[in-house]
Amino acid sequence: MPQPRILILNCYSDNHRSARGNPWIMPQSIAPAVLAGMLDPAHVDIRLACEFRNGPFEDFSALQWADLLVLTGLNPAFDRMKQVTAYARVVNPGIVVAMGGPLARMLPNLSRRYFDYVCSGDVEQIVSVVDAVFGPGHAAEVPIPRHDLLPGSRIIGYAETSRNCNFRCSFCAMTAEDRQFMAYDLDDVRRQIEALGHRECVMFLDQNFFAGPRAHFRARMALMKELFEQRKFGGWAALVTGDFFTRADNVLLARESGCIGFFSGVESFSRAQVAAFNKKQNLVLPQEQAIRSCLEAGLVFHYGLLFDLVDQTIDEVLAETELIVANPCITLPSFISFTIPMLGTPLFGSRLREGLFLPNVKLRDMDGRSLVCHPVDPIAKAIAFAALMDKGLIAKRKLAVHAWQFFRRYGATLSRWGLLSGLGNAWTMGYPRFGSNGRDGIRPGREGCRTYLASSEPLGSLYRPRIRIPERYRGHFEPLYVTDADGELHDGLIGDAASLLHPNSGEVAPFANYNAIAIP
Ligand code: SF4
Repeated sequence: MPQPRILILNCYSDNHRSARGNPWIMPQSIAPAVLAGMLDPAHVDIRLACEFRNGPFEDFSALQWADLLVLTGLNPAFDRMKQVTAYARVVNPGIVVAMGGPLARMLPNLSRRYFDYVCSGDVEQIVSVVDAVFGPGHAAEVPIPRHDLLPGSRIIGYAETSRNCNFRCSFCAMTAEDRQFMAYDLDDVRRQIEALGHRECVMFLDQNFFAGPRAHFRARMALMKELFEQRKFGGWAALVTGDFFTRADNVLLARESGCIGFFSGVESFSRAQVAAFNKKQNLVLPQEQAIRSCLEAGLVFHYGLLFDLVDQTIDEVLAETELIVANPCITLPSFISFTIPMLGTPLFGSRLREGLFLPNVKLRDMDGRSLVCHPVDPIAKAIAFAALMDKGLIAKRKLAVHAWQFFRRYGATLSRWGLLSGLGNAWTMGYPRFGSNGRDGIRPGREGCRTYLASSEPLGSLYRPRIRIPERYRGHFEPLYVTDADGELHDGLIGDAASLLHPNSGEVAPFANYNAIAIP
């Protein structure tokens, strides 16, 4: 009997609206590989694809080949999932389509209109879907991510030691999902790393590598040290929360076990803004001190900045970036984004209740680069600021000076990869649209067509079908509206209001963590 043919696709809409892939951006998604790893390779024929890496998926022959199409992706990918489903149903009417990810949990009722299976559970649910479609017996004996099925870098490999987060920041999709932090068995972590083969760097994609009881953290460090000494990898990096840096021995333990550096969600250097984000783990230690102590210990520190123009004036956020670029003791941000009030988060609920959303906001507009709420500054000034942010907020001369001084300060202490990635942020800040030459891209020397305002942003070419689409699937190419003409929750989402506005979404959720933080 032929094996079930399964195509797993990570859907993505480029937040620069260029309909492009991002093969050079770190981190890459490992969701398709993790999903594939749940299935027994002897009993399924699997192909993987990733729009984040390779741009819009238009391999219609692969859609014809598949019996089952599994779609995954983050919040803004919902429209893209519908579009790919329409293509699949047109070229292969017998195909079964399953979708999962955060939007399956936020929009379960709407999702059922478009997809045959809506998976609101964890990645393991793919096994029950495959068994339901093809009969029992498709679970992998020992699940292991199928990195072999996706082209990848030999330099960087990805792994996970846990899922979910123990904190509840007001803007974060993890808060909307409100699921328990869960650490993986160390044997599982070891298997993941060994399956990668030698990489210069293993990057852990946990939401918080530091979460869980301290004994678990120490055991994880011991495993890293053992594998590092066995030269299973050249070094490792992870995402940690701000409380990690409160104890100097955490950083030392990490360094001894081959750590190259960390990413941590700084979000803002303003204590008031950090508190507004319910990010209390970042109030324990001054952000600048956390970054410095990490760099001085020889580990690079990456972070992102979030600007919330509903709470902050443009002058305030500009002053913040000037302070950062004038300080060579700390790294520059890896990215700058507007705060996104993601569906189902406390921020989404409060912005909706307070009437702060702009009218006719589309899910597509929630890209961190378009205004979706009324700013405190005049709207014209905020639009001009968003355009400037897209081109590079900080003067190139200042970035060059920062890079030189940073190199002089940390050139001898950071590892080769740590230093390179730290200096790379000057390039990212100087050319935030670098590589935006996809088919909707803004060509050098020409103004783009973006308006940076949710209600009037053009949709881009993804919304124009590449093949003839029958009338019954035309709706798959309509954007999902979040708000109506009055800035209220759009009628299309009313059926899912219970999950979008769950008890946590109107207020900041209780602060829950395992690491007993005392707020000074
Ligand atoms: S620390 Fe906050 S922002 Fe980071 S994953 Fe957890 S809830 Fe989200």
